[in-house]
Amino acid sequence: MLKIRNVQTFYGKIQALKNIDMDVEKGEIITLIGANGAGKSTTLMTLCGIVPAAHGTIELEGQNITNMPPDRIAALGISQVPEGRRIFPYLTVMENLDMGTFLRKDHAQIKQDYDHVFELFPILAERRHQPGGTLSGGEQQMLAISRAIMSKPKLLLLDEPSLGLAPIITSRIFDIIKKINRESKTTIFLVEQNANLALQVADRGYVMETGSITMTDTGANLLANEDVKKAYLGM
Ligand code: ATP
Repeated sequence: MLKIRNVQTFYGKIQALKNIDMDVEKGEIITLIGANGAGKSTTLMTLCGIVPAAHGTIELEGQNITNMPPDRIAALGISQVPEGRRIFPYLTVMENLDMGTFLRKDHAQIKQDYDHVFELFPILAERRHQPGGTLSGGEQQMLAISRAIMSKPKLLLLDEPSLGLAPIITSRIFDIIKKINRESKTTIFLVEQNANLALQVADRGYVMETGSITMTDTGANLLANEDVKKAYLGM
C-alpha cells in the first residue's frame, strides 16, 4: 500500500532522515520505534507532506505522493493523529469530530460513523457538547483518534498515542487501535517510544536510529531480539 524509497529529509542543514526505505502492506499494523530524536515524527510528517522530502519517493497504492500538498494527501486517504493530539480546545467534541469529515462527500454515511466512534469510545458520547480542551489527556487522545477515523482513512498514522498517559488508559487505547485495524480494515502506521506495547500489537516493526532504519522484522521477532531488548525494552 505504501512504498517509501530512499527518502531524505532535512531541517536546514540538519539531516533528519537518511535514505529511508519502508513498506506497509494493506491491512497490517506496522510500528516505527526508536529513541528521542531518531526521526520518527519526521517520517510521519514527510509522509503527510508537512515536511518536504529532499530526495526519494513515496507511493500510495502505486501513486507518487512525494511532496504533494498535505490536503491532497489527506484526500487520498492518509490521516495523521499528531504527537500531542492537537485537538481544537475551544470546539466541542462534536465540532472536533466534524473537522474530520470536511473532505467527505458521503454525507448519509457520516451519521453512522459518529455512532461507530461513540461505540468505540462511549465517554466521547457523554462529553459530546463539552469543549475538547476540558477533556482529560486520555480522552483527548481518544478524540484525536476519533477525528482521524471520521475521515475514513485507508492509512492511519499515529504519533506516540501513549505519550503522557497512565498505563491503564494506554492499554485501553491500544486495544481500540487493534479493533480499528481488524474491524474497519484500516492500515495502521504506529510511531511509539513505548516499544514493548507497540511491538506487541504490530505485525511488523522498523527500528530507527539517528535518521536511518537499522532493523526490520515481525513484531514478535523484534520483541525477542537481544539488541532490541537492551536498547528499547529496558531488559
Ligand atoms: P521524539 O520521539 O522525541 O518525538 P523523533 O524520533 O520523533 O523524536 P524527530 O522529531 O523526527 O524525532 O526529530 C529528528 C531530528 O530532527 C532531531 O534531531 C530533531 O532535533 C530534529 N528536528 C525535528 N524538528 C526540527 C525542526 N523543526 N527544526 C530543526 N530540527 C528539527
